[in-house]
Amino acid sequence: MNAPIRIDFNRPVLVGKEMEYIAEAVQNGHLSGDGPFTKKCNAVFEEELGVRKALLTTSCTHALEMMAILLDIQPGDEVIIPDFTFVSTVNAFVLRGARPVFIDVHPDTLNLDENQLEPLITPHTKAVVPVHYAGVGCEMDAILEVTNRCGVRVVEDNAHGLFATYKGKYLGTFGAMAAQSFHETKNFSCGEGGALLINDPALVERAEIIREKGTNRSRFFRGQVDKYSWVDIGSSYLPSDLLAAFLYGQLEQRVRIQGHRQALWQTYQAGLQDWAARKGVQLPTVPVHTEQAYHMFYMLLPDLETRQRLILYLRERGIYSVFHYLPLHLSDMGRRFGYGAGDYPVTERVSDRLIRLPFHNGLSHNDQEQVIEALLNFDI
Ligand SMILES: *Cc1c(COP(=O)(O)O)cnc(C)c1O
Repeated sequence: MNAPIRIDFNRPVLVGKEMEYIAEAVQNGHLSGDGPFTKKCNAVFEEELGVRKALLTTSCTHALEMMAILLDIQPGDEVIIPDFTFVSTVNAFVLRGARPVFIDVHPDTLNLDENQLEPLITPHTKAVVPVHYAGVGCEMDAILEVTNRCGVRVVEDNAHGLFATYKGKYLGTFGAMAAQSFHETKNFSCGEGGALLINDPALVERAEIIREKGTNRSRFFRGQVDKYSWVDIGSSYLPSDLLAAFLYGQLEQRVRIQGHRQALWQTYQAGLQDWAARKGVQLPTVPVHTEQAYHMFYMLLPDLETRQRLILYLRERGIYSVFHYLPLHLSDMGRRFGYGAGDYPVTERVSDRLIRLPFHNGLSHNDQEQVIEALLNFDI
């Protein structure tokens, strides 16, 4: 008897020397934060992306929380955030007392609609947070034109977009800061992890303090002060060097990982485009001036009923697909801020219809062919 097929939506796999590096971290005798592997990871981001400072964090959520502290968000401040994003993008700012001002997304890229940005800016606006959905760059030229003219800061949630570019420039290098994620579901992972990328040099020293429980411990270790003490608010945002060791094993394989993901993405695209056109299914849009990160492959089905039916149909065949973000303005928290049905029609329309196909570093071409074949036989 054949074993039943199981094709996971996501599955963590070893891609390089992760286990060897974990053993090395133990031998180093440095398991707490900011050991040799943390420094190696930070150096990859600083050298490859050209950011002023990279700081590994315990999660992307925590990198976003650090951003909110660094921007000095105060109760009553407003932060403009796409309605179609993960909860952490907004929660980090709400934790500091900000009022979230949502912005709707483009129906093709699902990135924030820069044409709707300017009317949302008020004297209370502190920041705009572009999220590069699926690792496809937002329209940064238009966004920065508005924010520079209005004196509003930009910070990027780049959880999906590591090593992607917009007009040849890396995502994560446009805003004053950017947040990365190394959660199990992202292109590069250590289970739970993140990074704060800092482009504005004026923010570097305070970022180090906030990440080290509000102390100037980093300066102490560099010999710049002879003892460290409590100098600001902060928390413990630095991951164990064990996790950094695992992550470094993955980052070292970045060309191979991204190459595999690119091949998977292009195989889905090529295998599904005729079917999609015939059935009224919308495949992802990647503008020509962007080079995407190949974070995920999603499709927009004609309606909610078809989407739910497809998820079940695939599951019966051992194939696990998932939907994605629910409109933030319709959540309990969104409603508490006074939002309601109809406020962000594009997000409401796409959220119900979106499905994400199995996509991970361990997905084989054979398994992917089975996913495509199942889809081509699905009766829409
Ligand atoms: C995954 C994700 C996060 C949160 O990342 P964690 O590392 O799990 O905290 C934040 N924003 C977006 C857009 C994400 O996809």
